[in-house]
Amino acid sequence: MIIIKTRSLLRKYVKSCRSGGGKIGFVPTMGALHEGHIELVRQAKQGTDTVVASIFVNPTQFNDPKDFQKYPVTIEKDILALEAAGTDLLFLPAVQELYPDGTLELEHYELGYLETILEGFYRPGHFQGVCQVMKRLLDAVDADRLFMGQKDYQQCMVVKRLLHLMGSHTELITCPTVREADGLAMSSRNKRLTTEQRARAIGIYKALQRIQDLAGKKGIATLKQDALRILEDHQFRTDYVEIADGITLQPVSEWSETQKPVALIAAFQDEVRLIDNIIINS
Ligand code: AMP
Repeated sequence: MIIIKTRSLLRKYVKSCRSGGGKIGFVPTMGALHEGHIELVRQAKQGTDTVVASIFVNPTQFNDPKDFQKYPVTIEKDILALEAAGTDLLFLPAVQELYPDGTLELEHYELGYLETILEGFYRPGHFQGVCQVMKRLLDAVDADRLFMGQKDYQQCMVVKRLLHLMGSHTELITCPTVREADGLAMSSRNKRLTTEQRARAIGIYKALQRIQDLAGKKGIATLKQDALRILEDHQFRTDYVEIADGITLQPVSEWSETQKPVALIAAFQDEVRLIDNIIINS
């Protein structure tokens, strides 16, 4: 695996790979890698000829500075894991490389409704930061296929919108959420949980399962209440439990309002914020 730290070298490398007719797959991450990330690399290997991964903890997408400071960093382990999974190139830029003029006055993206609901509502500015970094990374990598996780459902929708705004040729491939044996969605933030919090964190998956199991049989408002109660029982402080249309992400109040319902949760164990979702088989 080659490690590159500058955009100019990365562009050169990608250009030479592409000149042989090969397709480029890209897996952007913020490091502290787990099986969920590695599965994205595996999908990219299956679907493309050259796999580029990136590790960059993007300061502009953290609306909470404490969350940024405490974001786990395990770079040596990450490099070994990416190499073992067959990554061809790791892009490892410094903040200065992606934001040479600083991070204060950056461009704004028209994300519309997506920015006003759920993660957009509870993390103001977060999706602007996601777009700012993804635009820079996508410009540098110029991938044919971009591999991202369903765990960040709304982020995938935002990135799809960004690709449209950019007039990009890159195709977004959304990969299923990889879970721990007990169902907890893998997340870099899980590393910050104490043993007790980790045990209670399963509450999110239990709440989602409750909705999944009784979808169509019980009303949406009742199931959202049930889910909230499960979260409370596991000492979660909940930002939202929502059932929405999987295409538009508009909340629904009746099952008949959507063909593809998705249940989404964001909740805190103390100061660690976790998100998860489930596409409901109706
Ligand atoms: P992050 O490093 O958290 O920014 O995540 C990098 C990419 O990995 C994003 O596309 C995430 O959606 C994806 N990802 C994170 N956790 C999982 C998971 N448990 N399963 C699948 N993909 C994931």
